[in-house]
Amino acid sequence: MNTSVTIVGAGLGGLTLARVLHVHGIPAAVYEAEPSPASRAQGGLLDIHDYNGQLAVEAAGLTAEFRSLILEGRQELRLVSHDGTVLFKQPDDGTGGRPEVHRGELRQLLIDSLPEGTVHWGHKVSGVRALAQGCEVAFADGGTVTTDLLVGADGAWSKVRPLLSSAKPEYSGVSSVETFLHDSDRLFPATAEAVGGGMLLVLAPGHGITAHRERDGILHAYIGLQRPLEWFDGIDFTAPAAATARIAAEYEGWSTALTTLITESATAPVLRPHYGLPIEHRWERVPGVTLIGDAAHLAPPNGEGANLAMLDGAELGLALAAHPGDVEGALAEYEQAMFPRGAETAAEGAHLQRQMFGPDAPHGLLAEFVAGT
Ligand SMILES: Cc1cc2nc3c(=O)[nH]c(=O)nc-3n(C[C@H](O)[C@H](O)[C@H](O)COP(=O)(O)OP(=O)(O)OC[C@H]3O[C@@H](n4cnc5c(N)ncnc54)[C@H](O)[C@@H]3O)c2cc1C
Repeated sequence: MNTSVTIVGAGLGGLTLARVLHVHGIPAAVYEAEPSPASRAQGGLLDIHDYNGQLAVEAAGLTAEFRSLILEGRQELRLVSHDGTVLFKQPDDGTGGRPEVHRGELRQLLIDSLPEGTVHWGHKVSGVRALAQGCEVAFADGGTVTTDLLVGADGAWSKVRPLLSSAKPEYSGVSSVETFLHDSDRLFPATAEAVGGGMLLVLAPGHGITAHRERDGILHAYIGLQRPLEWFDGIDFTAPAAATARIAAEYEGWSTALTTLITESATAPVLRPHYGLPIEHRWERVPGVTLIGDAAHLAPPNGEGANLAMLDGAELGLALAAHPGDVEGALAEYEQAMFPRGAETAAEGAHLQRQMFGPDAPHGLLAEFVAGT
């Protein structure tokens, strides 16, 4: 079977690419491992920036629909010390360029904007190989497709990446444990107050809590710890109460309003180790194959990954539309802009991780916030 553009992965990057191609009349097939759009909760809030994610939304022709998803007031930012003292507070005055939306709602908007049948759910790619002309994509169920243009949008552990590069993600030294408080204004008013209307950051050397206020009083938190992976291996996350107690013990002496984000989670704690590719990750041009998003430039969470994945998808789609009959010219143009952009953001992410978890926390980041106002 042949398709015009074969995309592996229906995350924000792959879907944005498919949508921009569709807008320009170029057919695409997206192969996604998950069985359906609703098979997994899709993370929390994302701030979509006017210098990358929103440009992609515009290229996808979905700006009005995107605006209807924005949660008003969520751009408020607070930096707080471990005892609950507010060190820095930036209100949401409605003029910011980083509105917050639910990742799941943004992903659904993109899915709904594609022709029926574009996304092939339940197609987990098990491997890819180069053919004399084009590539063969093999699926876990034994099926295959061949294609002349393959785009890996399949995230951190991309199965397409080995066609281009031998780089593998490395552990950044930090992991997060994901928690949720439900109905927080009624049940945990002190914690709801501490988080405020948007995003809360609580930093101390080796420790960092990031929390967002979502819809309906839900507080969504990432409890970050700078520890080796082996340290987390010693915690049995299939025993939620014991795992919660072990993580909470690392925050002894912190304000109870803050540790409530750990101890009172309505859901079992989920471990999310942070990985990154080498900051300067790039490859030589291989005919008919490229990568977008985390598959190309995975970095520890720095508030840019989803935005960059969308911009990559949009720019690749625009380049293919601008170079009909010249796939290699389009891929080269896309990669020429994407490589330095990915490297710059990954370097900023490494800096942010040092500021958040290093010995100077929270003062280094506080100084940057103050300087930026
Ligand atoms: C804890 C945490 C918090 C974050 N917070 C933010 C934030 O606030 N803002 C921000 O911009 N970024 C954030 N990020 C980063 C962001 O999530 C990623 O950079 C972004 O999702 C990358 O998009 P993508 O489309 O490249 O890949 P993904 O979102 O990973 O999508 C890849 C898709 O490919 C599919 N797939 C994978 N393997 C296969 C296979 N073998 N076969 C078929 N399909 C496959 C997956 O199921 C998935 O649907 C955060 C990341 C983490 C871990």
